[in-house]
Amino acid sequence: MLRTHTCGELRLTDVNKDVVLSGWVQTIRDKGKLIWVTLRDRYGITQLFLEEGRTPQEIIDTVRKLGREYVVKVSGKVIERESKNPKMPTGDIEIDVNAIEILNESKIPPFTIEDETDGGEELRMKYRYLDLRRNPLKNNLLLRHKLSMETRKYLDSQNFVEVETPYLIKSTPEGARDFVVPSRIHPGEFYALPQSPQTFKQLLMVAGYDRYYQIVKCFRDEDLRADRQPEFTQIDCEMSFVEQEDILNTFEGLVKYLFKEVKGIEIEDLQRMPYDEAMKYYGSDKPDLRFGMKFTELNDVAQNKGFKIFDDAELVVGINAEGCANYTRKQLDKLTEFVRRPQVGAKGLVYVKYNEDGTFKSSVDKFFTQEDLKQWADKFGAKPGDLMLVLSGEAEKVRKQLNELRLEMGERLGLRNPDVFKPLWVTDFPLLEWDEENERYHAMHHPFTSPKPEDIALLETDPGKVRANAYDLVINGVEIGGGSIRIHNRDLQKLMFKVLGFSDEDAQKQFGFLMNAFEYGAPPHGGIALGFDRLAALFGGQDSIRDFIAFPKNNAGRDMMIDSPSTISEEQLEELHLKIVEDKQEEK
Ligand code: ASP
Repeated sequence: MLRTHTCGELRLTDVNKDVVLSGWVQTIRDKGKLIWVTLRDRYGITQLFLEEGRTPQEIIDTVRKLGREYVVKVSGKVIERESKNPKMPTGDIEIDVNAIEILNESKIPPFTIEDETDGGEELRMKYRYLDLRRNPLKNNLLLRHKLSMETRKYLDSQNFVEVETPYLIKSTPEGARDFVVPSRIHPGEFYALPQSPQTFKQLLMVAGYDRYYQIVKCFRDEDLRADRQPEFTQIDCEMSFVEQEDILNTFEGLVKYLFKEVKGIEIEDLQRMPYDEAMKYYGSDKPDLRFGMKFTELNDVAQNKGFKIFDDAELVVGINAEGCANYTRKQLDKLTEFVRRPQVGAKGLVYVKYNEDGTFKSSVDKFFTQEDLKQWADKFGAKPGDLMLVLSGEAEKVRKQLNELRLEMGERLGLRNPDVFKPLWVTDFPLLEWDEENERYHAMHHPFTSPKPEDIALLETDPGKVRANAYDLVINGVEIGGGSIRIHNRDLQKLMFKVLGFSDEDAQKQFGFLMNAFEYGAPPHGGIALGFDRLAALFGGQDSIRDFIAFPKNNAGRDMMIDSPSTISEEQLEELHLKIVEDKQEEK
């Protein structure tokens, strides 16, 4: 028998038991006469004890040959420890070893297998299987597992059925590029990997499955950005005979259930905020509601006082940072530098200190009297001791800039506490967004999202004004998921493709299967997908999703461990009909 117990389970109540443990050598402490070894497995760490003169010498000799990460099997008796370690669950006991067997040797690992390791990012990615032995990563994957189990439990309790959809499909336009897979059997033809199972889940609704879910891989060949993975996992869902309200309630239920079961936190009812409001008051469609600093617009009190920059601006808008009137010159300069960074892009920052004595000190004192600034303060609802920070410019741009400043201030003031969770629904997204470069509209969500019935008439006259039955789930400033009520009517879907600039022929070629299906009794339906990796990272209190994925790609989209992407052999290229171009060039 390789083990009777795991390395995490023995306690005082087990004293005197004869046990067998197997695991990896974590540490060896050789004090000459006394030797302690700690043995680790997924469940924990147990200390082994050996004493020269008492423990048979051949066991001592074997132990002296051990190195870190050797795999061993030991037998022995559980004894009470003299100096207990209250930090270890098994810290009251140790094993008095009476037999040991080396099951496998190990090279010296390139970094220490400890909670705080000395290994750099690249090295740890290359030896991911060693990194995964460390507690922080192990705990992340266990958390992920728990989340997936609880998600399944909840959705199953709500009558959702899990159905697998294919990975070799043809492209589903969701705004990103597809990864394509050449077909060997059909020369010159390609499959695409799904960006999401969107069309399939809709077809499952046509097929009458009523409630579908899948924890599913999605693939998007997007440009590299920090913390983006070319393959990622979604909790993907679809429901029939529902309105937006039904979906929001069902998934609000899921969110509350997961927080309760996985984190032991009771979440309040989710706030709802229309997209327009989110943009106006937070400059973002994913506002972080863990803190206030809602935007205050100042055009009526800040313009026409001779300050040209404000007078020329479409919007003058600011936030009130409570208790920050004591900011030093240096701190204010830092903030100005921050908003001027190219990533933020503001030209400058106006500040107004509301001093404790009730007077004001601002960077625009030349143009505004104390009474003027009092008017500002009233608009902000500011109190003595506060600091008002104001930006101006083109409305859309300046809101985005102020969003960055708001988040930065939230960070500086410690208001973005990872242990506080403020989920909300952002609703009423625009259906379309204008693409300046290509001078055409894109679906903001995807082309299957239904316009609000009252806005359908605008589709042909003023498409930019049409709002969608689309919603996002946002938690702490992070978009965790999104979905919509779908179009289930062939003619409306056709019109939508037209607005998006598809010719009838193209629409038929790409989406004929869906439009045809809509002719066979498609029920009203809608759904949502939640980013599972993101959700896991959020629950784990971390910003990066990478360490919640067992084998992720690095920021350059590479798998450092298996070294992928990689070239393939000439034979494979030929077999896949991918050498044709080269051959033609040779002919020339
Ligand atoms: N397929 C969509 C996405 O991946 C989600 C949905 O509309 O259900 O974002």
